[in-house]
Amino acid sequence: MQGVNRPLVIRHARIVASPDANPVEDGTIVIRNGLIEMVGPGTPDLEPAEEISGEGLTAVPGFWNCHVHFTEPKWRVAVREAAPRLEHHLREMLTRWGFTTVVDAGSDPRVTVRIRHRVEAGEVAGPRIYTAGTGLYPPHGLPYYLAGSIPFWWRPFIPQPSTPSKAEKAVDRNLAQGAELVKLFTGSYVARGQVKAMPLAVATAAVARAHDYRVPVFSHPSNLEGTEVAVQAGVDVLAHPPDITEGVGEDLLRRMVGQGMGLIPTLKMFETTVSRREEYLEPIRSVVHEFQGLGGELLFGTDVGYMTDYSTEEEFRALARAGVDGRGILRMLTQGPAARFHVSASAGTLAPGRRGDLVLLEGDPLKDAEAFARVRTTVRNGRVLYPGRSAEA
Ligand SMILES: [Zn+2]
Repeated sequence: MQGVNRPLVIRHARIVASPDANPVEDGTIVIRNGLIEMVGPGTPDLEPAEEISGEGLTAVPGFWNCHVHFTEPKWRVAVREAAPRLEHHLREMLTRWGFTTVVDAGSDPRVTVRIRHRVEAGEVAGPRIYTAGTGLYPPHGLPYYLAGSIPFWWRPFIPQPSTPSKAEKAVDRNLAQGAELVKLFTGSYVARGQVKAMPLAVATAAVARAHDYRVPVFSHPSNLEGTEVAVQAGVDVLAHPPDITEGVGEDLLRRMVGQGMGLIPTLKMFETTVSRREEYLEPIRSVVHEFQGLGGELLFGTDVGYMTDYSTEEEFRALARAGVDGRGILRMLTQGPAARFHVSASAGTLAPGRRGDLVLLEGDPLKDAEAFARVRTTVRNGRVLYPGRSAEA
């Protein structure tokens, strides 16, 4: 733990303060009371509580993962366990990969809100957590791949609204339980290869209700129809590209871009949980590539929690393959999501007065995308989250 007023100082790092900034060689970052006090060249004379050498490392703003889930059975157990146990799980899935902020795109809020509470109380070292609470599904539209893992007694609590007013109530209930975003399955895989769309009036009502509270809406679209419902309802972010890409053409992508919609590629998830066949993957990469080429905003997210392999390396490799360059990847990890969640004034870049959230990487991520996965140290609010300080570190 750092002292009350003595800072955490990182010296001799190469600093990339934002996606558009020129790198500063041999720079210093000073974080005091959780906020960045100084970032730039030079070596100020200070008496730090803790000093980290950035020799040979690149410092970038703390990463966001805009698509995670706290749904594995271990979270339900860990939330009641001693701090080191919960911290260990948070480190394995998130902080060791550089994530200082994560967006939970659907889970049991009774679990996720408690994890967040323990983190924010300072008892457990972990990332900032935004949660969607429970996702909203089409009527009789639970995904086949979840159906087996949802206990029967919990099913009545999973909203599958059939009318606009039921959709509004489901949104209200989620927000009352602590959610800060809404997740809609505008296209739900009710069986392998078979998608059920959410009725447009239901999706529209849910989005309008969320927007009344300035809360963003994420959607799982699956195919053309699910994407159309999302676009027409005014959804803010597609949590995945549609993976049945038939009919998804430039016109639709232009409308998405025109509405300011964000897109989370989750390319590794498709690769590792659906199919590695190029005939399947290539059209999804093309959607990502074309969307970005039209000026669309990509946000970084991996769907970990649903995907049990937590490494980010393959996602960065796949993004590079889809034509996203190093600065583009840095933007989707930092500044983009901070703007989307209306916290640009405090997060997303390294600058005086901003939160002390940063990652030290081995290598140069602007030249080699896989360097984004080579995390040496993760700091949030001036506290070192990885490598941790507990016995397991
Ligand atoms: Zn997901």
